[in-house]
Amino acid sequence: MVRKRPSSVNDLRKKAESRVRNKGSGGKNGPENHDHAKLLHELNVHHEELELQNEELRMQRDKADEAIHKYSDLYTEIYDFTPVAYFSFSREGTILELNRKAYELLGAERSFLIGRNFGFFLTMDSRKIFADFLSEIFGQKKRKRCEIQVLQNRSVVYAILEGTVSEKEDKCLAMVLDITDRKMLELELEEARNTLTLALENGKIGLWQWDIAEDIMTWDQRMEEMFGITPGTFDGKPSTFESLIHEDDLPQLRILTDRALASGISMEAVYRTKEINARSSYIMSKAVVTRDGMNRPLNVTGVCFDVTSIQEGAEKHIVKLNEELLKSNEELRQFAYVASHDLQEPLRMVTSFTQLLQLQYKDKLDEKANEYISFAVEGSKRMYELLNGLLAYSRVQTRGTEFIVVSMGTIVHKVLANLRLLIDETQVKISVGKLPVIRADDSQMIQLMQNLIENSIKFCKRKPSIKISCRNDDGMWVFSVQDNGIGIEPQYFDKIFMIFQRLHLKEEYKGTGIGLALCRKIVERHGGKMWVESVSGIGSTFSFSIPGKL
Ligand code: ADP
Repeated sequence: MVRKRPSSVNDLRKKAESRVRNKGSGGKNGPENHDHAKLLHELNVHHEELELQNEELRMQRDKADEAIHKYSDLYTEIYDFTPVAYFSFSREGTILELNRKAYELLGAERSFLIGRNFGFFLTMDSRKIFADFLSEIFGQKKRKRCEIQVLQNRSVVYAILEGTVSEKEDKCLAMVLDITDRKMLELELEEARNTLTLALENGKIGLWQWDIAEDIMTWDQRMEEMFGITPGTFDGKPSTFESLIHEDDLPQLRILTDRALASGISMEAVYRTKEINARSSYIMSKAVVTRDGMNRPLNVTGVCFDVTSIQEGAEKHIVKLNEELLKSNEELRQFAYVASHDLQEPLRMVTSFTQLLQLQYKDKLDEKANEYISFAVEGSKRMYELLNGLLAYSRVQTRGTEFIVVSMGTIVHKVLANLRLLIDETQVKISVGKLPVIRADDSQMIQLMQNLIENSIKFCKRKPSIKISCRNDDGMWVFSVQDNGIGIEPQYFDKIFMIFQRLHLKEEYKGTGIGLALCRKIVERHGGKMWVESVSGIGSTFSFSIPGKL
């Protein structure tokens, strides 16, 4: 590109023209004059070329100006809207220039801030840090970074100040990054860590971690103390840990650990240590498994605490409770037995004498007296029934015979034979499914089945239909007696199993309210449970479970 200044070409051209004009005024049109005209022509051509080039240069310059403006605007925008505060400081810390984020950080107008010392906006401690920062940065001409606290209105902003020196302009270029959120988190974390340490120390809780890939365990000092080894001597081997556990409890601990590793649920176990000074400690361990992105276990982190005193206390308490319970059960049984058995004799006397009275003095007494006597006879009969029921109830434990292998099919057939008359009378339809052989007290099984079938016939307002079946549920036989009777409201499902609890008047349905209590007691003696499912007006299903083991 030609870089001659166009003005000088212009001058030359003007000079040549004036020379042509001067020669021409001499009146001669000689060869000299001709040369000058040629020169002038060349200069003109040259001038036009230069004008063109000039125009082109002007256009390029305009484009460059435009680009500069564009980029300078962009730069200003970036400079102003970056989330980092930028400053330039003099050697003394005076603010020379700053971006939008910077004056927002200090909470004042740009015009107010320029010319003021940055230290003015810092806490006392940070002023000193800033002064040291400047002297080091200008002294060593090195990039430097420090933490400061900026005062913003009435709060403190935690920030990082990082800067370098622009030697050409003798000023510090710095940026300030707000790290308050991070700082707050760090402080919270620190606080939580302190609380945790305090809790671990005071609660005598041991911390441990097992790195699965490396198969190495890390213990804190409390763990070592708990397992009775000298602090600092645990070698990190899981086998060493296992060697410190009571051999009876180790298999279960291994099962629980494997389950936690496989399932992702946290682990909780109580186990004994090997004897330390002739006694084992009870340790409660809780742990969580950390997994990688592929759900593979990476490590297990846990805590252990010594629960010996709690465990021993609880065991003693349970033993004491059991003893008390056994005693009170025995007393109750004695009471029920004595009450029902010993009351029977005087009651029998009352019953027979009132009956005699009724028989022999019927004609000698008036109607009222006869009515009273029949009430007395009824009452004593009922009392007799109740006492009999109570006696049967108290005898479930005491008079029960040893369990033998019995076929429930045979039991049901015996019951149906016992109830032959009632069955014929009520035209009841009974279906019996396949029933298993179980270990039981056969006479109690007859009592149980008979009570249930009798109830199904009794509490029915239409032609009774009964279905007897059995299924196996997780090792337990579950027997069911299903009927199409009057049914029971759900709120009475528990009440009906209590002794002497009935839902109807004796005039409506005969009975003493002892039957189901007796049934449940028999089932419980056999290690099972008894319950009812029912829909009022549709029917009931009484079920009981008996262990399947023979
Ligand atoms: P009882 O038959 O002498 O009344 P139970 O202890 O056998 O005493 O039954 C208690 C109560 O449970 C009965 O009074 C009755 O209300 C209810 N019940 C028992 N079996 C059935 C049944 N199959 N259908 C409806 N209600 C029943």
